[in-house]
Amino acid sequence: MTFTRISGHEKTIRRLRSLVETGRVPPAMIFHGPAGIGKFPAALAFAAALNCTRVPFVEKTSPPPQEESLDTLFAASEAAPPAPQTAEVPAAQPVVPAQSGDSCGLCNSCLQAKSGAHPDIRIVDTAFQAALLNEDESANLKIDTVRELTRWTQQKPMLSPWKVFIIRDAEALVPQAQNALLKTLEAPPANTVLILTAARKNALLSTILSRCCPVEFGPLSRSVVGALLLAQGAAPDEAQRLAALARGSLEKAAEAGGIIARLAKLRAGDPSRAFKFAAGLPRDSHLAREEVKTLLELALANIRIAWSAAEAGPAKNRYTALLRRTLELRRMADRNVSYMQLLEITLLESERAGLKLEELLGTEVFN
Ligand SMILES: [Zn+2]
Repeated sequence: MTFTRISGHEKTIRRLRSLVETGRVPPAMIFHGPAGIGKFPAALAFAAALNCTRVPFVEKTSPPPQEESLDTLFAASEAAPPAPQTAEVPAAQPVVPAQSGDSCGLCNSCLQAKSGAHPDIRIVDTAFQAALLNEDESANLKIDTVRELTRWTQQKPMLSPWKVFIIRDAEALVPQAQNALLKTLEAPPANTVLILTAARKNALLSTILSRCCPVEFGPLSRSVVGALLLAQGAAPDEAQRLAALARGSLEKAAEAGGIIARLAKLRAGDPSRAFKFAAGLPRDSHLAREEVKTLLELALANIRIAWSAAEAGPAKNRYTALLRRTLELRRMADRNVSYMQLLEITLLESERAGLKLEELLGTEVFN
């Protein structure tokens, strides 16, 4: 992963590249900003750039096989690593041209980083934790995982100038795990960098935040989200439609796609429609609330279309009232109001105003 492959975030990426160039890297950093905008790929690109050797990796021709003596057979049984078939060329070789502060993508370190097997770049997340503790994946990062991380930070780098630890979605750290991390964040060993990524940094203890250098990532532009969706194989009209609802996040775009598909299955007037819709919401109440917000954004976009198409008269007045009400509901969604209630009111009031469910998810708004 090189910085050049990251879409958007130009200013933030410039800042990260200048840290790589100068080598003045804060020992603890937090990459924060909305979910699904590329904080984790940026952390990977930063780690790769720090450890890039810019010396091209080439395959060495294998030496001719030699007759094995008994000694070498015994030596092999000592679990000595076999002679590598490949090696880096000496540093005297021409370096790989890379943009300043970025990784080359071609040296041994970059190739290892790309394959996820770099011994000095460690990613700590719930999937990794499940493998480490030999248990099912859980939503939280536990103190045992942080203890293991602390142990690794005390080891010397294996082949690179920097040891980089990326704690992905750090808000998953339980409070005890956060407390266990404080000492390492405050005084990590030399040439060690800890990067936390977080969509909700305020879910972390203030003692964690005060020890981390903040690096902010903002929402992506609509055109960048559209281009990324196209690159992921979305049809052009679908990419455009979802990008309009994505609020600058690929994760939100996927969420909007799911909402549209679920809304399409509801029937107007069905008394259990809000419950049917809610059955597909994520179990995590924060994520469920985020989906309801996306639904409200979708409703607002379509109500605005219906409003501007209506001629002055009772219909226009109904849409004006509905628009005001939906804006109010959208504001309430940021507060601690039951999202089920918001969902029910939105669907009910849209129908009352004469806006059918099909219109609530109409596509013409995006063209
Ligand atoms: Zn490289």
